[in-house]
Amino acid sequence: MQNLDCINRLINCFTKLPGVGYKTAERYAYKIVEEDGAFTKDFCDALLSVKANVKFCRRCGNFSVADECNICAKRGGDVVCIVRDPRDVIAIEKSGAFNGTYHVLHGVISPLDKKGPDDINLKSLLVRIRDEKITELIIATNPDVEGEATANYIAALVKPSGVRVTRLAQGLAIGTNLEYADQVTLSRALMNRVEI
Ligand SMILES: [Zn+2]
Repeated sequence: MQNLDCINRLINCFTKLPGVGYKTAERYAYKIVEEDGAFTKDFCDALLSVKANVKFCRRCGNFSVADECNICAKRGGDVVCIVRDPRDVIAIEKSGAFNGTYHVLHGVISPLDKKGPDDINLKSLLVRIRDEKITELIIATNPDVEGEATANYIAALVKPSGVRVTRLAQGLAIGTNLEYADQVTLSRALMNRVEI
């Protein structure tokens, strides 16, 4: 009997990706079996290249190929926009309404998923507040339960240091993912941000 463990291994790898169930993982694996060698090589090269070259910006936590990301390298300022993940940076950059720097949390506080304040990128934010003379944090986590809880936690944490803390204005529907919000909505939400 032939040993097809290698296909199962590949299926298993795909099931670890977000949003991919067993059936989809199976389809991906079979597709790769059917594809020619050039595709597979390109696919593997792309995976390895990402792992070898992309890291996190030491200042803001955004994706970067250098120690500091493109945005940190060319911007300073005392206003920092806090987002859940790098996709949100892209969404806000597309709106063109913000020209400060970002801070990427890589998650939100979510007791249901056993994610507390220590599990997100908060310690380096406190260092930045101390070292960069930050005057305002705009908290742009999603308007859902975890996003709100995270915003409130950060506000309580940093307010004693005198930093102004604001939140994106309503206009983003509850449950909207920032990355899917249109540019006009995002610009307005930034412009009309409210104190928390
Ligand atoms: Zn950065």
